[in-house]
Amino acid sequence: MLVMSTNPGSVVRVKGELEQDGKCTRFVRVFYTLKAVIKGFKEGCRPFIGLDGCFLKTEYKGQLLSAVGRDANNSFFPIAWAVVEIENKETWNWFMDQLLDALGMDGNAITWISDRQKSLLDVFHNLLPNAEHRFCVRHIYDNFKKKHPGSKLKYLLWEASEAYTLIDFEKAMNKIMKVSKEAYKWLDKLPAGQWSKHGFSTNSKCELSSNNMCESWNKHILKARDKPIIFLLETIRRLLMVRFHEKRERMGDHDGVLVPKVMKKLEEAKEGAKKCMVITSGFNKFEVSQRGLNKAVDLEARSCTCRVWQLTGIPCDHAAACIKKKRHSIDDYVDKCYHKSTYSKAYAEAINPLSMRNLRQLKMLYP
Ligand SMILES: [Zn+2]
Repeated sequence: MLVMSTNPGSVVRVKGELEQDGKCTRFVRVFYTLKAVIKGFKEGCRPFIGLDGCFLKTEYKGQLLSAVGRDANNSFFPIAWAVVEIENKETWNWFMDQLLDALGMDGNAITWISDRQKSLLDVFHNLLPNAEHRFCVRHIYDNFKKKHPGSKLKYLLWEASEAYTLIDFEKAMNKIMKVSKEAYKWLDKLPAGQWSKHGFSTNSKCELSSNNMCESWNKHILKARDKPIIFLLETIRRLLMVRFHEKRERMGDHDGVLVPKVMKKLEEAKEGAKKCMVITSGFNKFEVSQRGLNKAVDLEARSCTCRVWQLTGIPCDHAAACIKKKRHSIDDYVDKCYHKSTYSKAYAEAINPLSMRNLRQLKMLYP
């Protein structure tokens, strides 16, 4: 592939099969990622990856499998993609093998999110048995509503998914039981920690329960999805080349240690803190009351019993109130993964353009 010479260190792997004549090779599938993207993910993004497949509208048909991360400013960050014949256990297994090899990371230390489909469950069971694997709550709801429709149940399912603590999760589930025992039983069969925030680990500093990074990515490359394979891959490379450049430029104009979306969240936390009453226990520990509920905050451990701080890496209302009481800067209590300097590492390396000679070669191969 031409991209290997213009962007050394990129990974393109093609799987072929011998035709019946034993001479010609038939194209089966291709995996593709760029060096700038892999480096950017490892150095500038949290260890959190969404997986998804979408249909292609090409003559070849086939499907596009993608792995998508989240940058410091909470925008999607594509990591790798592959054109495969169909989405099944074998193709996902092949894709994950290539992805883990390209990343050179321990996949068990990454938090993953995807649809709850049998093929991916099997792949994770075999390949990454110790990884945190979340199930996209939108996908769960799409299946749930077929048997349990209605806006009340929809609202309660989301309440259960958004619960950061076991107590809040159980409260939401009890409400579901009162509306429909069958709906409760349906949800109770699912591993709760994989679709509700109360069970999520705090390693990735990413609280997402929906795979919306992949949704955004699939929309971003919509115009590439009806092109022949080689042009589809080239269109994606160009889209990313421009995206990396724009992200670098825009953040270059931004003042501050933290990224803009997190600064906005902190303003909200500071507003929420105004409604909190703080009692000091000493040693940086506090008891905080808000709307009749008590939470325990530990500034040194960067934790609050509401679990928002631990899961997101961003101080919650309760923590913001304690930080204000100490007259400290709230910025100092935000996880480094949201620093502008971390964000810049994700987009630090340019995706190199193809030269005119390269493009002529491409047209000769695929006129
Ligand atoms: Zn809190």
